[in-house]
Amino acid sequence: MHSSTKAIRIQTERTNEMEHSTPLFLTSSFCFDNAEDMRAAFADETDDNIYSRFSNPNVQEFIDRMCALEGAEAGYATASGMSAVFASFMAFLKQGDHLLSCNSIFGSTHTVITKYLPKYGIGYSYVSATASEKEWEAAITPNTKMIYIETPTNPGLDILDLEMIGKLAKKHGIILNVDNCFATPIGQKPVELGADIVVHSATKWLDGQGRVLGGVIVGKKELIQEIYLFCRSTGPALSPFNAWVLSKSLETLDVRMERHASNALFIAEALENHPKISQLKYPFLKTHPQNDIAKRQMKNGGGIVCFEIKGGLDAGKKFLNSLQMLSLTANLGDTRSIASHPASTTHAKLTEAERQAVNITPGLIRISVGLEHRDDILKDIVQALG
Ligand SMILES: *Cc1c(COP(=O)(O)O)cnc(C)c1O
Repeated sequence: MHSSTKAIRIQTERTNEMEHSTPLFLTSSFCFDNAEDMRAAFADETDDNIYSRFSNPNVQEFIDRMCALEGAEAGYATASGMSAVFASFMAFLKQGDHLLSCNSIFGSTHTVITKYLPKYGIGYSYVSATASEKEWEAAITPNTKMIYIETPTNPGLDILDLEMIGKLAKKHGIILNVDNCFATPIGQKPVELGADIVVHSATKWLDGQGRVLGGVIVGKKELIQEIYLFCRSTGPALSPFNAWVLSKSLETLDVRMERHASNALFIAEALENHPKISQLKYPFLKTHPQNDIAKRQMKNGGGIVCFEIKGGLDAGKKFLNSLQMLSLTANLGDTRSIASHPASTTHAKLTEAERQAVNITPGLIRISVGLEHRDDILKDIVQALG
């Protein structure tokens, strides 16, 4: 079966009620028939559910569907994308280890790497998202334990070469950890290109309707086992209710992403030469600096379009205030289109120099293109630019 079929058909075993759609297993713990069965479960001799911090049928269904979509062996789901990112670090890194990351990454991930990992004696260094193979290799140190990347990056939409970095990681025996939030497994499959583990904020495109927080880590079985052991003791488990919502969402991920991406390409092409815009970025436009890499490793360009509005900070704020339909909200990957202005919001606490280093210019606008009719999305953006 194709992975898109598996994302629909992999399902929790039918109960005696003969339901068609998976019911909600809203339970903190699970029962045993006798002391022997319970002993065996605790001794890891069976994979019976014990307690929902460890496992739960709804959570497992969501994980199994994600593994099918990503082409991964195993997974663990968490309460948010950040708990997935944090667990993917803490399960493997110890005092004296070094984490190598691309410099344009999600804001909270940057905080974890620069503020919290050093508290545990874990060092880090950043390389530019557009660094060459030589620059990447030069940044690897003898104690580099993990390489962490995002592609496309947020909000700059830079594309990193997964295959090139995958080969480097393998050559040096380093774990390659990829945040695949922006592309989703419909857009790209990092495991096929050399990633050892893949993390997601399920809050974004995976839910796709702006309802629940969630996260998931998938990858090689022996690595996921380490993450499972870390999470089982530290407790970032995904709630069964959120898992039930997210698992249902995966049934429509393929069709949703196809439309998000075709709407985004339409918006990008229509706005590319707009007189109020100085630079527009979309991975599947020929003008994107890494268009060749994007075409090679991605099936579509994703649902995010970025552009620089002429007039900087004030023009950016004015643009947001002039929108009539697009939402101003701190999320992305929703059926409803969203506009954001990183310089005055998500990245306002950075210095101008820090923002420059990760290509966040004063007039940068990020559009998460929704599933509304493409003409209505374009119309609102064009009137606000006016
Ligand atoms: C949102 C996001 C996260 C964090 O996910 P939460 O679910 O908000 O905790 C991590 N990485 C990327 C790329 C994101 O966009």
